[in-house]
Amino acid sequence: ASRLLEVEDLHVRFRVRGREVRAVNGLSYGLGEGETVAILGESGSGKSVAAQAVMGILDGPNARVTGGSVRLRGEELLGLPERRRRRYRGDRISMIFQDALTALNPVFTVGDQISEMYQVHRGMRRKEARARAVELMERVRIPSAAARLGDHPHEFSGGMRQRVMIAMALALEPDVLIADEPTTALDVTVQAQIMRLLAGLRDELRMGMVLITHDLGVVAGVADRIVVMYAGSVAEEAPARELYARPAHPYTRGLLASVPRLDRRRGPLTPIGGAPPDPAALPPGCPFHPRCPRAEARCAVDRPPPVTVAPGHTAACHFAEEVHVAALADRPG
Ligand code: SF4
Ligand code: MG
Repeated sequence: ASRLLEVEDLHVRFRVRGREVRAVNGLSYGLGEGETVAILGESGSGKSVAAQAVMGILDGPNARVTGGSVRLRGEELLGLPERRRRRYRGDRISMIFQDALTALNPVFTVGDQISEMYQVHRGMRRKEARARAVELMERVRIPSAAARLGDHPHEFSGGMRQRVMIAMALALEPDVLIADEPTTALDVTVQAQIMRLLAGLRDELRMGMVLITHDLGVVAGVADRIVVMYAGSVAEEAPARELYARPAHPYTRGLLASVPRLDRRRGPLTPIGGAPPDPAALPPGCPFHPRCPRAEARCAVDRPPPVTVAPGHTAACHFAEEVHVAALADRPG
């Protein structure tokens, strides 16, 4: 049986001032009902662009998918005419963003915006649509939902506005929800509430969720699998527990070392030095080598292929096996 969402060897390119930029270079992941895949990376790693390609909303006239496959319950979405593609958006795959204020229309009330989804896509009458809007606002735990139907987006707090956007994304009961940095703009307490809400809705609605983030702390306890992207390519991919316990890529180790964890002895946080490379001018060899504490001479020359270090766990590093073994030895007793 085909899985809910299958992304296979996705390639996306841009053309910037006459130069070809490989924004996404061979991303693959699969997702079942009720499962969450986290795509983790710094800004410019290609994670948002990859999500836009899956959603069919790549922007920029020069952005295009140059290879790969995106299948929803076995049906290929890439190459569908825009008119047919549009039918999948909202209905089958839905997306939420970091900034609810730009995703929502400032002019209309929240009640109008949510009920319009039902009127336009489900042919409901206004009264019925508004009743459904209240149900949905309750489902995303907006207090006094009925009383807030007439409020505009700016009248909600950041966290409540994020809930409104989630409500709109879920209105048509999509099979897959793509969440692009859904909590980045919020303070830590509200972040945790929103992540709990998303995880609860995912379970309740048996949705697949693609969670895009730069923050490993956000995905803990929510993601089943984690794909770590660096400079457009997959650096490492593993079941979440395995990735936390035994990272096999120096980049992932660096990311983990910069996240405070309760199960580790306290030590200084060690953020990764340097900045990600310009995607239009990637270094030869391993794209991470200018920043990598483990790099050796060959890393500047040979691009490392993905190495399988455990079932379902791969890392694109010449020394993946050693890094993996070392991570095991480092585990707190
Ligand atoms: Fe570091 Fe070399 Fe591994 Fe790249 S291949 S992550 S530079 S050790
Ligand atoms: Mg982004």
